[in-house]
Amino acid sequence: MDDRDEGVCVYAAIGANIGDPVQTLMDAVSRIGRHPEIRVDAASSVYRNPPIGPQDQPHFYNSVLALSTTLPPRGVLSAFLLIEKEFGRVRDIRWGPRTLDLDILIYGELIVCEPGLTIPHPRMLERSFVLIPLLDLKPSIQHPTQNESFQVLAGRVDRQDLERIDVSLIPEQG
Ligand code: ADP
Ligand code: MG
Repeated sequence: MDDRDEGVCVYAAIGANIGDPVQTLMDAVSRIGRHPEIRVDAASSVYRNPPIGPQDQPHFYNSVLALSTTLPPRGVLSAFLLIEKEFGRVRDIRWGPRTLDLDILIYGELIVCEPGLTIPHPRMLERSFVLIPLLDLKPSIQHPTQNESFQVLAGRVDRQDLERIDVSLIPEQG
């Protein structure tokens, strides 16, 4: 997608915990950016955090991306599911280990509640590894259904186990 194309602003969560997770995140960001209808505008820092759900699996590496897209929400979801598949994701254990997880957090100001697609992502407000990177990217962003700012919402989650990793997922960002 060209720099001049407008598109809708989408925030997406990206996570991995098997293989070389940081390399996977870098490769996945580059893959997303090659999609003709998605542009990667920015990536937060990477954060390392313990798994949610089953504990007998490696730590996760997570980041949040700011994207622009000319795709509708279902189009973004299909693109994400395809890319997860390309990266070898097998769906078996809920919240179990995964080579790549891509979630739509926010799609403009849109609210979607359909089978197989809920936007804003229903669990994002409980997750420090989503809220903290989101604030890194854009402190002024507004959640479509919450009256409070993300600053306030992020203040309520326990961020004790979140460890910031000093890598950038976008080469130009340095
Ligand atoms: P989670 O990301 O919550 O750990 P999974 O990645 O295993 O769970 O679940 C993916 C499924 O969740 C997808 O098949 C998709 O249909 C559904 N889903 C619902 N809302 C969203 C969303 N906002 N972003 C990504 N997937 C979603
Ligand atoms: Mg997912």
